[in-house]
Amino acid sequence: MIAMQGVYKTYPNGVTALNGIDVTIEQGEFVYIVGPSGAGKSTFIKLMFREEVPTKGTIKINQMNLPKMKWKQVPYLRRDIGVVYQDFKLLPKLTVYENVAFALEVIEEAPKSIRRRVMQVLDQVGLKNKARFIPDELSGGEQQRVAIARAIVNHPKLLIADEPTGNLDPDTSWEIMKILDEINASGTTIIMATHSKDIVNTIKKRVIAIEGGLIVRDEHRGEYGYEI
Ligand code: ADP
Ligand code: ADP
Repeated sequence: MIAMQGVYKTYPNGVTALNGIDVTIEQGEFVYIVGPSGAGKSTFIKLMFREEVPTKGTIKINQMNLPKMKWKQVPYLRRDIGVVYQDFKLLPKLTVYENVAFALEVIEEAPKSIRRRVMQVLDQVGLKNKARFIPDELSGGEQQRVAIARAIVNHPKLLIADEPTGNLDPDTSWEIMKILDEINASGTTIIMATHSKDIVNTIKKRVIAIEGGLIVRDEHRGEYGYEI
């Protein structure tokens, strides 16, 4: 599904964030990305939905060649990819329902099917009864569940999560992991950058460790491998 070859990324300020990445990830995998701060994890993740372009190398996602992609093709790529962030990034003035529906409205779905799909996905994350709330009226865990609902409403093949539990307490983090695990069980590939040793060492998945812009470890059912 994802194939990176010889990927380098140097930012305009001269900082090299990725230093020759080679990796393949198959459809349906669940992959943790671990490593110290500044290692290149976010950059690695951003390349996959073309938030950044590599300085050198090839990136293929579902046969699409990202570095060569034209601007007008990028929305088609992103339609297949859901993204979840540490700070949720919900639209504060919109209700839960509207935050999730928005992703479907921009691709011009029929109103009736939007309604059905939004309520279905809110049910999946346990928030059907909070559809009329605005983000400020929700707990952090609930806001992250809205963000997950928004990310998957379009049935993406790939879900990318950049430290999705980074702002949440341990109990809430486990709830979020349960939802991500269920999404993965339905066939969606999940790539999750995390600093949670507990999560990585408990819910065993493939672990890719990045240090200094290089993959230094790639293990099936791996360990977190750092003290914090
Ligand atoms: P991580 O997610 O592992 O903390 P990042 O990919 O965010 O690592 O950062 C890797 C390196 O690239 C760091 O040195 C960081 O300061 C630098 N970096 C990240 N984003 C930018 C940017 N937009 N412009 C310049 N340097 C950046
Ligand atoms: P029911 O089928 O139980 O009558 P609805 O499908 O009418 O429920 O709506 C369920 C919830 O979804 C409502 O509480 C409402 O908050 C929300 N909702 C439905 N449609 C919209 C909409 N267009 N905008 C905002 N919220 C909506």
